[in-house]
Amino acid sequence: MTSQELRKKYIEFFVSKGHKEIPSAPLVPENDPTTLFTSSGMQPLVPYLLGRAHPAGKRLVNSQPCFRAEDIEEVGDNRHTTFFEMLGNWSLGDYFKKEQLPWIWEFLTKELGLAKEKLYVSVFEGNNDVPKDTETYEIWKSLGLPEDHIYFYGADKNWWSRSGSPDKMPAGEIGGPDSEIFYEFTQVEHDAKYGAKCRPNCDCGRFLEIGNSVFIQYLKRSDGKLKELPENNVDFGGGLERLTATTNNNPDIFGTDLYKPIVEKICEGLGTSYEKNKQYIQVIADHIKASVFLMKDGVVPNNKLQGYVLRRLLRRVATKAFLIDKQKSDSKFFRSLIKSVIDIYSERFEEINTANIEEEVSLEIRKFRATLERGLQQLDKSIKDNENLGLAVFNLFQSYGYPLELTIELLKERGIKFTDFDMGQFEEGRKSHVELSRTASAGMFKGGLADHSEVVTKYHTATHLLHAALRQILGSHVEQKGSNLTVERLRFDFSQPEKLKEEQLKQVEDLVNEKIKENLPVSSEIIDKEEALKSGALAFFGDKYGDKVTVYTIGHPERSEGSHFSREICGGPHVKNTSELGKFTITKEESAGAGVRRIYATLS
Ligand SMILES: [Zn+2]
Ligand SMILES: [Zn+2]
Repeated sequence: MTSQELRKKYIEFFVSKGHKEIPSAPLVPENDPTTLFTSSGMQPLVPYLLGRAHPAGKRLVNSQPCFRAEDIEEVGDNRHTTFFEMLGNWSLGDYFKKEQLPWIWEFLTKELGLAKEKLYVSVFEGNNDVPKDTETYEIWKSLGLPEDHIYFYGADKNWWSRSGSPDKMPAGEIGGPDSEIFYEFTQVEHDAKYGAKCRPNCDCGRFLEIGNSVFIQYLKRSDGKLKELPENNVDFGGGLERLTATTNNNPDIFGTDLYKPIVEKICEGLGTSYEKNKQYIQVIADHIKASVFLMKDGVVPNNKLQGYVLRRLLRRVATKAFLIDKQKSDSKFFRSLIKSVIDIYSERFEEINTANIEEEVSLEIRKFRATLERGLQQLDKSIKDNENLGLAVFNLFQSYGYPLELTIELLKERGIKFTDFDMGQFEEGRKSHVELSRTASAGMFKGGLADHSEVVTKYHTATHLLHAALRQILGSHVEQKGSNLTVERLRFDFSQPEKLKEEQLKQVEDLVNEKIKENLPVSSEIIDKEEALKSGALAFFGDKYGDKVTVYTIGHPERSEGSHFSREICGGPHVKNTSELGKFTITKEESAGAGVRRIYATLS
């Protein structure tokens, strides 16, 4: 089965069960500065799982592109990638276990035709806080799964909440048991280094996790006890790449049509074979695809946040290609890879600026090459001066992102051998570096929206006021081109041909502050998209909306022209009244590309 057929079948199957297909979110979350990337289908839906009404209703389905930066080092086997597409279905206080499990079982065994004897599941075994999930166990048994295909695991494997196991959940947090589904590739021999016996969740590659149903049925009370939620939610996620691999009964996802054309281009361009350079090719194929998707969603390589991760991906692509063949890994080669990615996703990439991405990637890789050259000169100097080689290599790694394997290769060329002492020195330096960046990114990933929700909600709402003020002062040619929030400021990009004058900036700032002082109510309603547009609601993201949308109005919520200050289709978090915002100050105005200006502003 092709991946396209599979994606289509999945969506159609759940639509036939009363679900509405919702558009996917961008890879960079719009209103959550505490998370760099969208890493699951559930992430953009958290506000709705917490109780906000979703404009598309209570049964949702989609396919969400996801990126997991924390998995970069895992790539280089048959199943790990940083980028993947997650097929998801959700119940927002609607159906629960007895509907979800039979449906997903029907989809896997009937629609995809997977052999029942190859499927295994895991169920939550219970702990001091929560009883064993016998309901899920009984449902799986009633569907025909034999007892020895059902495994019980603890909270470390079969519990979901944003903060981890039940004891780690803060008051007010929701969570619940989950049930994972595994496919067994009987042709893969178990590797004894992962334990005496193979079982689902074994890391040898014989079992592949292909889906997970999360049953969000508990709320942590302030007394530390978990109580059952009045309404139950379901979140299912399954990787498209992995599901496609199971329908081909091939444990290597790089053999699916989602990777094969890229793998072929790599082999052709570098004059090698997949078997000969498997790990390097897996890294190149995953990272170049992830890079294209990130750039499509507006990330550019630089030294900050998302840009830094993209830069790292591209450098790893360049390094691995360089290691396979220095001469052949030229910009023509990288262009051919980008094209192969875009061909695979031609349906999703209708309006993508291919030339721009090719340009950026070529430039970045050229710069990296120059850096490599400079690093080499420095290394030659260290060797001449008889400095500690291990430290010299570590310094290259730290200051230039110079990969160890590449250094070893080039030293080899210079007839130099590393001693164990050198390697020890390097390892020590590298470990502390990895530890450091892990701590930094853990700080970035933990917490989620909740920690900073209040200030983010204010900044997001202020963005609506700024947008409306700009249109009033400069004219209706002003359209939102982008928005980015941190806990310290908002950033807003908009169409505008020339730089704003001092007095215009002052007028905009004054108008926003005037509206804050007017104590305007912020209200929302869910209506048809057509009706929303007719009523003057602004919408600037093409057709990423569904048929039903949420409209936020600042000012009198009546639907006639002039009765309100701002009216926008939006999915972000908002305050209830503008009086909550405080004082609005524009701190900077600059260009953000041709015909686009950028404003930074703070609230105090
Ligand atoms: Zn195993
Ligand atoms: Zn909004």
